[in-house]
Amino acid sequence: MSKKYTKEKRLQILENSTVNNLLYTDTHFHYSSMIQISKKNIEEQTSEEWLEKKSIENLLNSCNFQGMDIGTNCDDLELRYRALEKYTNIHLSAGIGPWATDREESIQEQNTILRNNINKYPVSAIGEIGLDNYWHYGTVKLQEELFNTQLDLAEELDLPIIIHSRDADSQMIDILKNREIKKGGIFHCFSSNIELAKVALEKGLLISFAGTITYNKNQELRDTLAIVPLNRLLLETDSPYLPPEPYRGKHNSPSLIPLVYLKASEINKCSIELISKAVSMNFLNLLGNPKRLEK
Ligand SMILES: [Zn+2]
Repeated sequence: MSKKYTKEKRLQILENSTVNNLLYTDTHFHYSSMIQISKKNIEEQTSEEWLEKKSIENLLNSCNFQGMDIGTNCDDLELRYRALEKYTNIHLSAGIGPWATDREESIQEQNTILRNNINKYPVSAIGEIGLDNYWHYGTVKLQEELFNTQLDLAEELDLPIIIHSRDADSQMIDILKNREIKKGGIFHCFSSNIELAKVALEKGLLISFAGTITYNKNQELRDTLAIVPLNRLLLETDSPYLPPEPYRGKHNSPSLIPLVYLKASEINKCSIELISKAVSMNFLNLLGNPKRLEK
């Protein structure tokens, strides 16, 4: 029987999360989007008492937290690098997601801008990149072309990838099956079917689950998490999006990551300690230390 936690128990785990010596790894969040919503707003909207006490900066600095801030467009790296450079436990990725097919610049122009930025500010991974048929950005063909240029770039730079895939299961399977992914990577905020999970595992990717595993209706997703071996599992918040229960409808923050760990431990019928060890080890094995400019 898996343990079911009451709301009180969940909040207690959150309160204790900074003192119980666990290392929490949030493999995917968007710091600049969190800041755009404004720090104050985030703290108000996720306003349990303990959250108000703790600023995002404190969390990023804390020795029991590590994670990765994720790029979404060709020109977002410089600002993110400047904002996060001082946090040596935070990785940065950069990449061009499917939404950029709606931009005015051509794919080639965007890719050149991205390359120039990566030359100036080193990153640990290329992403998030992928396909999104839910929002119908650009065209299917353009999205595939962009995704392939990003896969080529990752291969050339010898970096792992971070995949975003929404309502594109069979298309994603076709592309992944036909490519070698040398440096591995992360399938982020997994929301696809079990078949795609198996292909991702065959390709050597890690699979990252977000707060959506706490949503009542997502039993299939929990069943998928259960088949992912612990040495291939990652967890994330995707902040400021997709907050875990009981914070749905509010803005998400990496400080809610313990709730995702709690649910993953319920699903796997194991301790949070074991999940914490597995996720942090998988994360470090894939990315090593954050890459910073030599000074
Ligand atoms: Zn994201």
